[in-house]
Amino acid sequence: MIGVVAHPEETELVQEFFELFKTPWEFYSTTGSYEVLLYAREDVAVADKPAPLVIIYGGGQTIFDKANSFQVTSRQKQRTLLYKGQRLPLYCFLVTFLTGNEGILHDEESGLPAGIIENRGAYTLVRIGYDIFQEMRFLLTEGQPADNAGIPSLEVHIAILRELMIRSGVSFLEVPPIPMGYAFMACLSHDIDHPLIRVHKWDPTMFGFLYRALIGSILAIFRGQGNVWQLLKNWAAVARLPFIYLGVARDFWYEFDRYLNIEGDSKSTFFVLPFKNQPGQNESGHAPKARASGYAAADIAERLQQLVAAGREVGLHGIDAWTDSCKGENERNEISRITCATKIGVRMHWLFFDKDTPATLEKAGFSYDSTFGYNETIGYRGGTLQAFKWLRTTSLLELPLHIMDTALFYPAYLYLTPKKAESRISNIIADALRYGGVITINWHDRSLMPERLWGDVYIRLIHELKAKGCWCASGEHVVSWFQARRSVVFQKSDHCIGVRLQNQDANLDEQIPALRVRTYNVNGVTGYSSQADTDILLTGNTNLRFHLEVSVTPSP
Ligand SMILES: [Zn+2]
Repeated sequence: MIGVVAHPEETELVQEFFELFKTPWEFYSTTGSYEVLLYAREDVAVADKPAPLVIIYGGGQTIFDKANSFQVTSRQKQRTLLYKGQRLPLYCFLVTFLTGNEGILHDEESGLPAGIIENRGAYTLVRIGYDIFQEMRFLLTEGQPADNAGIPSLEVHIAILRELMIRSGVSFLEVPPIPMGYAFMACLSHDIDHPLIRVHKWDPTMFGFLYRALIGSILAIFRGQGNVWQLLKNWAAVARLPFIYLGVARDFWYEFDRYLNIEGDSKSTFFVLPFKNQPGQNESGHAPKARASGYAAADIAERLQQLVAAGREVGLHGIDAWTDSCKGENERNEISRITCATKIGVRMHWLFFDKDTPATLEKAGFSYDSTFGYNETIGYRGGTLQAFKWLRTTSLLELPLHIMDTALFYPAYLYLTPKKAESRISNIIADALRYGGVITINWHDRSLMPERLWGDVYIRLIHELKAKGCWCASGEHVVSWFQARRSVVFQKSDHCIGVRLQNQDANLDEQIPALRVRTYNVNGVTGYSSQADTDILLTGNTNLRFHLEVSVTPSP
């Protein structure tokens, strides 16, 4: 059990932190007994009766530093740390240390330790020169700048804390963000922006298509982004266009259900625009005309119903839901009307979002959001691979967006060759294998068809994910899994910790894999396996009890 000492205004942050690092904890009480004491206040002295592991976070000089003559440098901002070769950007204050203790992480520029560890006989003391909860606040509100998109910062913060606990030898357990039977998760999703080319006559979408198909296909060959076969396919599509307008040839953009074949048994989510010809609002008033959709959900109702019948999720691709809860409700109702679904997830068109959007979406009754990501690059805006609850909302979960096809291939964005795109994606898969969690992918509706023809990369990606033990699922299923994990409660009695799943519904859906409990340095597990350091299945009917014995032999 971790006892946490934090500022009262950080209560919600601390609670959310321990949904992401799902391990037994409580706010410190003088009557409690703890394996770990975690201080995130500069103005509080360490308890007289410390725990086997004491960790003090703080990006300024603390009372403890003064009392123990710990020499710290002056506070600095915007620093990057190195932890076992992994870069970790900080967004709030940092102090580094001028003591002879063992450094566990270092300031990249000065090389000075930003975290030190000291053996004090009865307990291990760790002093870390930043505030973990303030870092988390920045990540889950502002989000990382695109330059740091490749670093899952919040996962690294959690990994450092977990590793300190393992090293110190204390017993603890965790419900990791890894479903039983799998190595990690992927949410497969498709924003439906252009399902019909026939509605684009003499407009920028049509001229853009013609230019990219006729000229862009030639340039793509020289840049190593396309081949002759794709060029011929695109030219043939252009030749077919007049016949599509005449209504005598098949509309090749109306084939986004080809994703069903590619994904096979795995479910995915299609985010659909509700109304046509509405650019909606941006932060300064009217959004550009180009944001208006050429179709309404009702125009493709039949295909949407087929997707639902095939077990796929249809969500809202929102226009104004990000800024107006009444309009959001209206947009949500339009999707519900067509699909008869009651729970509707949302991703905003063009990823429109501001600090009030989570509360606005919650008020409009959405079951989750999946907008928090980048248009221009791929990676971790929130620094995390996990679904999280927004601060100042009651229940709305965010399924952060990580990989978008247009970010990879558009000339205005990364403009990568398929090979380079796959190498960037493989870094994210490596992170998911290391930290667990979910990779959220958006491959647009028309990306399989001319003139994009980005289907091969997607097919290889699905292959790769499945080969690496990934559970590929829709947004609603992934969110359900995280909700089940959030419903896990830990109960402490004497030297035992009970683990119970509160939300029994989560287990009724056979499509959602079970949770697991992972133990560290635990000697006795009652009722199940007596083997330590193993993963134990957690289902709705399970009531696990773990006997935690504090071992005081720190591993090397
Ligand atoms: Zn869109």
